[in-house]
Amino acid sequence: MCVPIGIAALTWVGTTDAERRRLMFLDLSEIAVRKDMIVRQQVDQPRVEDPDLEFVSPLVGDLTFENSGDLLNISGEVDCAVTVPCARCLVEVEVPIHLDVEEHLPLVDVLNPTRELEPDEDPEIVIRTIIHLEQGRPILDLDELLRQWVVCELPMRTVCSEDCAGLCPTCGGNRNLDPCRCAEADRNMPFAALASLLGDTPDPPDS
Ligand SMILES: [Zn+2]
Ligand SMILES: [Zn+2]
Repeated sequence: MCVPIGIAALTWVGTTDAERRRLMFLDLSEIAVRKDMIVRQQVDQPRVEDPDLEFVSPLVGDLTFENSGDLLNISGEVDCAVTVPCARCLVEVEVPIHLDVEEHLPLVDVLNPTRELEPDEDPEIVIRTIIHLEQGRPILDLDELLRQWVVCELPMRTVCSEDCAGLCPTCGGNRNLDPCRCAEADRNMPFAALASLLGDTPDPPDS
């Protein structure tokens, strides 16, 4: 049985940016102490704040929070899309992100997020970065949690296409758009090889 009550979704609208920002803070004080309580939370927001993330599709999905006795389990799916620069030519590439969420937070930590970690503890999510206490009540910063999930899901390396020719190391031009003649010119310069030995050429493109 799902009990869709008891979790307070507090929404603030910030005005620090020309663009309206939405921050989602969830009061976990009830679910953190009520065993078997289940709460569904919809996600539908244009972005989360991160200087390195450029969202082109909003974050949309559903999350379920469940108190299983000693864990707060968060599961569900969230989709969005961001752009990241091609590793070779730097053109922005749209990357769809699908979050298949399966998070298990120890309730002792949810209720005491600033607990000192043991030296051998290496949690995937550092609880103090997503939960803070407000008059003793644990408040989850869902935006920050979403941000951490998205960052974890980003591909290590993105190319606009497997055949991307990248940037010319000599003139810096995008060789996909405008095949320059630098390579040809280099071949015609007998001292090019010597110059490169002296470190007189720009770094080759990452390939
Ligand atoms: Zn490229
Ligand atoms: Zn060139």
